[in-house]
Amino acid sequence: MNRPPVATADTERVLWLDGLPPDQLATRPPLDGDTTADVAIVGAGYTGLWTAYYLSTFNPDLKVVVIDAGRAGFGASGRNGGWCTAEMPALLPGLVRRHGPMAAMRLYRAGQRTLDELRRVLDAERIDAHWRHDGSLYVARSAPQVDRLRGWHEVRGKLGIGGLTLTVGAPAAEQIGLTGVRATAYTPHCVTVHPARLARGLLAAVERRGVLVAEGTRATRIAPGLLVTDGGTVRARSVLIATEGYTGRLAGHGRRVLPLHSYVLATEPLDAATWQHIGLTDHRTVAESRYQFGYLQRTLDDRLVLGGRGAYYRFGSATDRAAAAGRRAHDLLRRTLAELLPDLADVPVTHRWSGVYGLHRHTEPEVVYDRETGLGHAGGYGGEGIALSNLAARSLAALVAGVSRPETRLCWVDNASRRWEPEPLRYIGVRTVTGVATGADRYEHRFDRTAPLARLALRAIV
Ligand SMILES: Cc1cc2nc3c(=O)[nH]c(=O)nc-3n(C[C@H](O)[C@H](O)[C@H](O)COP(=O)(O)OP(=O)(O)OC[C@H]3O[C@@H](n4cnc5c(N)ncnc54)[C@H](O)[C@@H]3O)c2cc1C
Repeated sequence: MNRPPVATADTERVLWLDGLPPDQLATRPPLDGDTTADVAIVGAGYTGLWTAYYLSTFNPDLKVVVIDAGRAGFGASGRNGGWCTAEMPALLPGLVRRHGPMAAMRLYRAGQRTLDELRRVLDAERIDAHWRHDGSLYVARSAPQVDRLRGWHEVRGKLGIGGLTLTVGAPAAEQIGLTGVRATAYTPHCVTVHPARLARGLLAAVERRGVLVAEGTRATRIAPGLLVTDGGTVRARSVLIATEGYTGRLAGHGRRVLPLHSYVLATEPLDAATWQHIGLTDHRTVAESRYQFGYLQRTLDDRLVLGGRGAYYRFGSATDRAAAAGRRAHDLLRRTLAELLPDLADVPVTHRWSGVYGLHRHTEPEVVYDRETGLGHAGGYGGEGIALSNLAARSLAALVAGVSRPETRLCWVDNASRRWEPEPLRYIGVRTVTGVATGADRYEHRFDRTAPLARLALRAIV
């Protein structure tokens, strides 16, 4: 068997990009000179590509150009944890608070239906994204975490959203071989995907529909009717920004989206007996119920992919990689693996990588389109963007194409957030929130009771 070289602490190797078939790796030429289009899109991750896809279905006559500073799908879209989930446990209470139960429920249900829509398009476009629909298991390993799972179950019940099965006590521990499990909540509304296959498959699909995708082309200025790049200028009626965590690099957008660095690792393939022992005989995803939660999945080639336990902000919204921070974050993931699954403490880790996702000040995704100027954007999924980017792109594409669809009436449309604070306030604020979350997790682990003021503090700050 051809084994990949083992990643060392200093090297980043993205499992998903490593495993791409050569035909999906072919680069697209950069923009070479000035051009015109009906719609120009900056960023060829899921948001940009799905927007181009739906524009081409809503109005096949539109000329759509998508540019990407790097490679299509090599941003967060090709580096994520592969959880294509319709659940938004962190988002739901805020949505209810700010938009009311009806609007929150509408968005939630639209998210659930998005999994069917994704399946439909992947089948229609023959995109093999390693789709496995086995749901998610959220685990609680302390009394406060059990309370949080109960609370989530209750909120959903009040909203009339069913489908979450809560199990408490010994039967829960039997469901999954993680240490110290006291309760679980199972939802069928999650699929695992191969993130980069999805992105590159989508790239090929939009090109078949006549969309021009230029890689290695950086946007340097955006104005009504105008997208200036380092490869030429695109004059277009609509110019859309789909750069999520990287948005702050664009002139005039420095404080719109907070970039958060997130880390992931993958083990070598594990044998069937080990998976049996872990209790993951299918591809259901698993997440902790800590504030700084870890999440894992079993890939199609039987590796364990583990991510999370914190998202990190760098001063001045920097998005380049910081080797030392990466080492610390990956060490923490390694310790998390040993804590959750002690038998895997020494299993070889073959891949370690990081990526950047985006968060708005109001902590919700948003879809904004100004008909007058033709400027628009979508993103800010806060680390849950695989399914949501499809739904947001459908909302944005419908607004731009001027077609009446239910997606244009969701509560995230034109729900533009206020900007993040200037530095150093932004850095201090974000570090305080993550510090509170880390401290609360430690306290709850140690004392088995809810950290005083943690929930209040986290809610007040974000
Ligand atoms: C480590 C990690 C794990 C995650 N895990 C999950 C998960 O398991 N489930 C889930 O649902 N979500 C997850 N997410 C979030 C999800 O991946 C993102 O929300 C989603 O991919 C965002 O897609 P996007 O197209 O908006 O942004 P991106 O995929 O980041 O694409 C933005 C693109 O814009 C380009 N760009 C930036 N600046 C410019 C410029 N000036 N000119 C031209 N192009 C530019 C970039 O090169 C990039 O390709 C994770 C994210 C990370 C980082």
